[in-house]
Amino acid sequence: MDCLFCKIIAGDIPSSKVYEDEAVYAFKDINPQAPVHVLVVPKAHIESADCINSDNSDAVKAVFEAIPKVAASLGLVNGYRVITNIGEDGCQSVRHIHFHVLGGKKLPENMG
Ligand code: AMP
Ligand code: ZN
Repeated sequence: MDCLFCKIIAGDIPSSKVYEDEAVYAFKDINPQAPVHVLVVPKAHIESADCINSDNSDAVKAVFEAIPKVAASLGLVNGYRVITNIGEDGCQSVRHIHFHVLGGKKLPENMG
């Protein structure tokens, strides 16, 4: 499958890994928007949050179980933000569901 994040998960494209378990992979965003900016993705290919259903939601559950571990390992003791962009209007550029974890400073209130 021609999917950038599937290739990163497979190790075919290099990434700065910060966390991995059997269902989840997390790595530093190549274009950080905050002092800490990582992407947390399920290893299973799901196109976006708009495609979550009862057949694939275990992968999303695993992501949200991993996020507090990722945040703790990155020292985000004061809070952080989790964002997932969906489709064209959501400005989703990679069509493998991913959750941006942003922090390391007081983030702007404006969500666009
Ligand atoms: P989105 O716009 O929500 O689809 O987010 C895609 C994110 O992937 C952007 O923040 C990019 O900076 C990031 N990104 C693209 N290519 C890579 C890569 N090779 N390694 C790490 N992050 C990437
Ligand atoms: Zn994929």
